[in-house]
Amino acid sequence: MNKALLIKGGRLVDPARKISRVGNLLLKDDKISWVSEGRENPVGKAYDTLTAKGLIVCPGFIDFHCHLREPGFESKETIATGTKAAAYGGFTTICCMPNTRPPLDSADMIVAVKNKAEQEGMIQVFPIGCVTKGRKGKDLIYMEPLVKAGVVGFSDDGDPVRTPELMEEALEIGKMFNLPVIDHCEDPNGGPPEGEEKIAARDLEVAEKTNGWVHIAHVSTAGTVELIRQAKKKGVKVTAEATPHHLLLTADMIEKRGSLAKVNPPLRTEADRQALVAGIKDGTIDIIATDHAPHTMQEKQRPYADAPAGISGFDTAVGSLMWLVQSKQLTLTELIACLTNKPAAILNKPLGSFVVDSVANVTIIDPNKEWVVDVNKFLSLGKNTPLAGAKLTGKVVATIYQGNLVYKDDSVIIGLR
Ligand SMILES: [Zn+2]
Repeated sequence: MNKALLIKGGRLVDPARKISRVGNLLLKDDKISWVSEGRENPVGKAYDTLTAKGLIVCPGFIDFHCHLREPGFESKETIATGTKAAAYGGFTTICCMPNTRPPLDSADMIVAVKNKAEQEGMIQVFPIGCVTKGRKGKDLIYMEPLVKAGVVGFSDDGDPVRTPELMEEALEIGKMFNLPVIDHCEDPNGGPPEGEEKIAARDLEVAEKTNGWVHIAHVSTAGTVELIRQAKKKGVKVTAEATPHHLLLTADMIEKRGSLAKVNPPLRTEADRQALVAGIKDGTIDIIATDHAPHTMQEKQRPYADAPAGISGFDTAVGSLMWLVQSKQLTLTELIACLTNKPAAILNKPLGSFVVDSVANVTIIDPNKEWVVDVNKFLSLGKNTPLAGAKLTGKVVATIYQGNLVYKDDSVIIGLR
């Protein structure tokens, strides 16, 4: 590809700058070079041009929560396959959870994942470090070396931070680095949905006491949404995410799809789903994160009780989320903000907006493209999704990372204009 690319005639949607209009975007030398005011062309020579008429052109999508499974579980996913699936799904930046084998609890492990991602990955990977040594829930890790190695947060995801005392210590130290402790809210002794709400309430209280930053992962119940809403009103430093599957699906999927719909936290009621959408609308829920959790089909074909929890999300996330816009539950800008500038704010990095001279990360969506989810075509090794066979309208058709086209659908045309 040439070092310059003009993306022409698409709807530019950049929530950070309140842009939603048809226009043109010029990428040059891996940077955003120019954004049109209206439909005018850039000055200068003829550029390689991507025809984006009828398409939605956004800053590259950011996923704050995924599982790449490497090291230790390479039959489920690798950094190479996971980042490829993420690029196909429209993501240019992803943050991977530390529940690998061994877990990411040292600076060496963090550096190893980052190096592997740079060598074999298609897009940017930011690792998240463990809260406790070996992710065992006993002793807090020494955070500073991991911060220096580049973690963007700490989490024992898969499990909650075991005790309020540990959470307090973690939030105190996380605060010094302005990094969140990411909370998987589940009470091992309490049944859902109360178990989630119990731990969320506990840790919001600790966050209030310490003034530390807690990020509530995969919020799934109306009760948790309300707890976060009240905490934010009180000025507690809390951010929160919801997953595509909790925003789109409900527990009836478990009867229809069995183990493929088994996920942690589990799919809930329609009232819970609607509360999550309302939480996005009023800012209680900050971002949408995939919690991409690939497993082998062998594991997922086990009976429900024995199958591992998780849904492979990269390939379908954006296509399925477009339903929220089509059914007028969210505006396009509200949806895109949850995937661009809002996660960028949590990462505290200059991403997620078409700022001139910022890195040329771009995601292009065809809102009208109809497609059927075919897991055999997934780029992820994880074929585990209850959406297999679903008909979706809206699909990512091109992903540009650091000025390079890392995914392009055949329908997208690039030529010299
Ligand atoms: Zn989790």
